[in-house]
Parts: sequence; C-alpha cells; structure tokens
Amino acid sequence: SAPILTVDGLTVDYTTHEGSRRAVDGVSLEIAAGEVLGVVGESGSGKSTIAQTIIGLQAANARIVGGSVKLGDLDLLASGRRTWRQVRGTRIALVPQDPNNSLNPLRTVGASIAEPLLLHGASPKAVQGRVLELLELVGIPDPPRRAAQYPHELSGGMRQRVLIAAAVALEPELIIADEPTSALDVTVQRRILDLIDELRLRTNTSVLLITHDVGVAGERADRLLVMRQGRMEEVGPTARVITSPERDYTRQLISDVPSFSVRTRETVVVPEETAPLVEVTGLVREFSRGRQEEPFRAVDDVSFTVAPGTTHAIVGESGSGKTTTGRILVGLD
Ligand code: ATP
Ligand code: MG
Repeated sequence: SAPILTVDGLTVDYTTHEGSRRAVDGVSLEIAAGEVLGVVGESGSGKSTIAQTIIGLQAANARIVGGSVKLGDLDLLASGRRTWRQVRGTRIALVPQDPNNSLNPLRTVGASIAEPLLLHGASPKAVQGRVLELLELVGIPDPPRRAAQYPHELSGGMRQRVLIAAAVALEPELIIADEPTSALDVTVQRRILDLIDELRLRTNTSVLLITHDVGVAGERADRLLVMRQGRMEEVGPTARVITSPERDYTRQLISDVPSFSVRTRETVVVPEETAPLVEVTGLVREFSRGRQEEPFRAVDDVSFTVAPGTTHAIVGESGSGKTTTGRILVGLD
C-alpha cells in the first residue's frame, strides 16, 4: 500500500551565533498505514528535528534547506499556515516528551482534551461526551471526576495519558511520539507504550516512535531508522537491524542493550518430549473498525506451540497480527 508519510532528502540547518549548523542531512523515510517506525540514535543526532519538521513545529531558527515531506499526496513543506492548521491534530498528532510541561496548568484536563475537537468544529455538547470517552479509552478511571481536575492533581503517568487522549482525539493517521516516556518510571513507560500500540491497532494509525532507548524501539517498532549526526546510519526491519546490523555504529547501540545480548547468548535446551506450555490452534481474531464497514481480520488461522522455558519469537511485517496474538495469549484481548 502507498505510504502515509514520505520524507525525501530532508535537510535542516539551525542558524546560531556561530553560524549555520546542519542538524538533519539528507534523511529519507516512509511510513505505511498501521506501521511503527522507530527512530533511534544518540543525543543530538537529529531525531527531534525530523519530528518537528514533519509536524511543522520547528524552532524559529530552523531552516529547511532541502527535501520534501509528503502526507499522502500533500506536500507539507510547500503548504501554507491554513493547510497546516487543518493537518496538525487531525491527520498528524504529536505526543510530546514531557507530560509535566505540556498541559496548560490553568485549564482542566477536560478542557485540554476538548480544545482540538472544538477547534475543528465539533459542538460543545458532543465534545463533552467525547472527552469522557477518550479518558476511558486511555485507561483513566472515573473520567467525569478527572475531566474536572487540573494537571497538578494528576500523576505524571496520568498526565501523559491525557496528552495521548488529546493527540488521538481526532483519529490522526500518524502519531509522532518523541520520547513519550522518558520522564516516566519504567512500569508506567510500558503501560504508555502499550496504550499507543492498542490505539494503533484499533484505528490502524501509523506511529513514528522516537527514542534513544534501542531496547524500547526494538520491542515496539516494525522497522528501525538509526540516526547519527544528522544522517541515516541504516534503516530496515527491526529484527534484521537487531540480529544483523549493517553498520558498526548500530552494532554498538545494540550491544549497549543488555536484554538483546542476553537473548542471543542463552540457549535453553528442551527435551523433545516436553509437553507444550501453550498450544494455539486455528486462532482467528477480527476487529470491527469504526470508519470501515468490513471487520478487519487481524489474526487468521494461527497455530503454534510453545514449550516451557523456551522463547518463541513472532516476527512479521507491520499489521501482521503479532501484537494481537500476544495479547490473546496473555488474556488482554
Ligand atoms: P536528543 O536525543 O538529545 O533529544 P535529538 O536526536 O532529538 O537529540 P535534535 O534535538 O534534533 O537531536 O538536535 C540535532 C542537532 O541540532 C543537535 O546538534 C542540536 O544541538 C541542534 N539543535 C537542536 N535544536 C536547535 C536549535 N533550536 N538551535 C540550534 N541548534 C539546535
Ligand atoms: Mg530529541
């Protein structure tokens, strides 16, 4: 299928007192519908600059000196303010890095989520119900009470959920999550990433997941883009990049993640006669999709067994049913 987003040869400079500095240098990427593209790389490698350019929120001293960013057929870099206003929030949404500084402290949680909906013409009455629905969707208990509260009355994890609710309010085609969890503790991080994944499955949203944490990207992304000093170091399917990186730099990044190296070193030998721990036979799962009429078959006649003490890897392209299968196995479906 045609990509949702196509970035071609993007080059961005920052103008500073010391002159001009190239932050992004000839970056090209594509994201398909429902796909998660992970962008990893050291600090300063240009990840956030790419994200900001895609959503049109670059710093005042940023200068796009080359390349194009297309959302479907729409050339975003050639678009005026009006087009941007129509695209931002509705077709592309950003989940910002720091939940603590990204909500207006003087507005209730409900008012913050309502804002994009009202801006795009929903009636105040309809918005009220939708806000509660969204709070429920992102797993915030007691939505009516929470909607009336101010950001300081919520935990960091809850604030991040509120930001996600605001981002998905208009069912965007692309969610850009720039280090969406770096300010949160590990268990909350996991839940937030699960939530983004769940929403992605539900509406077939694409995700650009930016993180300096290769472990997180390796677990969540269908494909990985490795950035270094503004340039693309390598790009490819996650499993390929992790198991056989083309570049020394990527190999170095990966070897810094303990879980990856452990997984490749430890081998559990299981006797042939061991009874399977899990036996899956003919698994089928369909989702009814809001905007589509046909139900979407996420998993179609899947059978496999898992022996105790073994690692069963499920790999496959974006949208192939990996996560859905896993969720059914652990009873989260
Ligand atoms: P991090 O992992 O630390 O968030 P990043 O990969 O997101 O880093 P960017 O924030 O895109 O990197 O920065 C890329 C380069 O551009 C860096 O050298 C950074 O110092 C520089 N830079 C970023 N924003 C500006 C700015 N507004 N003015 C000048 N230079 C900037
Ligand atoms: Mg950044």
